[in-house]
Amino acid sequence: MRPIKVRKYLVLVTMCSLIFFAEAKAKIATHKSNGALDEKEDKDDKSRKPVVQINREALTLHKGRVRQLKVEGTDKRIRWSSKNEAVAMVDAEGRVWGVDQGVTTILAKVGKRKRRCQVTVAEKGLGLVNYTVIKGKGGVVNWANVKKKAAKKVKWSSTNPRVAVIKKNGTFTGVSAGVVDMEGKAGKKRYRCRVAVGIPKNAVYLTFDDGPSSDVTPRILDILKRRNIKATFFVVNYSVANEKLIKRIVKEGHTLALHGLSHVYRDIYRSEAAFMKNITRLRKKLFKLTGKDCTIMRFPGGSSNSSSKFNPGVMTRLTSLVQEEGYRYFDWNVSAEDAERYKSKGSVYRNVTSGLRKHRVNVVLCHDFGGNHVTCDALDDVIDYAQNRGYTFRRISKRTELVQHKPIPN
Ligand SMILES: [Zn+2]
Repeated sequence: MRPIKVRKYLVLVTMCSLIFFAEAKAKIATHKSNGALDEKEDKDDKSRKPVVQINREALTLHKGRVRQLKVEGTDKRIRWSSKNEAVAMVDAEGRVWGVDQGVTTILAKVGKRKRRCQVTVAEKGLGLVNYTVIKGKGGVVNWANVKKKAAKKVKWSSTNPRVAVIKKNGTFTGVSAGVVDMEGKAGKKRYRCRVAVGIPKNAVYLTFDDGPSSDVTPRILDILKRRNIKATFFVVNYSVANEKLIKRIVKEGHTLALHGLSHVYRDIYRSEAAFMKNITRLRKKLFKLTGKDCTIMRFPGGSSNSSSKFNPGVMTRLTSLVQEEGYRYFDWNVSAEDAERYKSKGSVYRNVTSGLRKHRVNVVLCHDFGGNHVTCDALDDVIDYAQNRGYTFRRISKRTELVQHKPIPN
């Protein structure tokens, strides 16, 4: 079915382009036959309107094969785009390459005008055009329905060896995080594939809720400073005496984040308006003190809390409302359980270390409210454990992958 359809289509496209060319030529002919106009053209070149056209109205490509498109009749900047990048991609210079079997349109925008080229990608060519590897790991460019001899003729090179390197035979290795295009040459034929290099997500985000407190927060900050680690503090209301701790959190490079002026569930989850007031008042207070506009937040009790059950559906409404208002809320996927009654240095250590997982974002829930010394006591050992196993500590930023509890039961 497929080849017949494509052929029919090509015939149609060819006919259309013939008509288009014929019309264009006819226009030029009428133009030139007029003597008066000819004279004018000599004086002023601008009065002659060249036909702006794309050099190909239709194109059939193998996967990974690169073909050059050009727009003729203009010196203006051309903006190239693909209607479906899963089928074919195009770069700023009009080079098109097939990604996966299918049909799409490549657009060339010249000012407000658009020119189109229909691109059909056949199943032959590169087996895959997009590869994803982890830093330090690699793979080899593979081919689909292509004879080994023909594939061997293609010599590969990397357009940015700092991101990934490739041997002539197509074996590539990720060097640092980023995206790089690999170019293959075989005579006049050009191929392209893309390699995205990711870094392993062995990240640990230590988070401290319900502070600052004059006895625990300084101890935590001291440890983090000595170990050169950045963390995140979800703070509640603080006294004038503790303002210096808020300032220290910012000064030492940690993320200052919102928990809420009040932590009293009955008050804050009474209504959406009450909750938003509680969060914005803290945001304003912190901004006045530090000049930082905090938009990273954590719901008291987490988004999956059962303490708000007295107001059915409030968490469902709030989780979408805060995101609409531009906040990014974080829950956790590891808990120190250090707000529980039966806790010790040993239980905090066990709860955190047994919860850490490789190849993901680990958001660890801890507390720095007054009197909670067990977390500080366990912190150095927790850091040792994680660092010895290749984890890195980071602070939450606007770009951090969200960790949110699902489903929201209320
Ligand atoms: Zn809390």
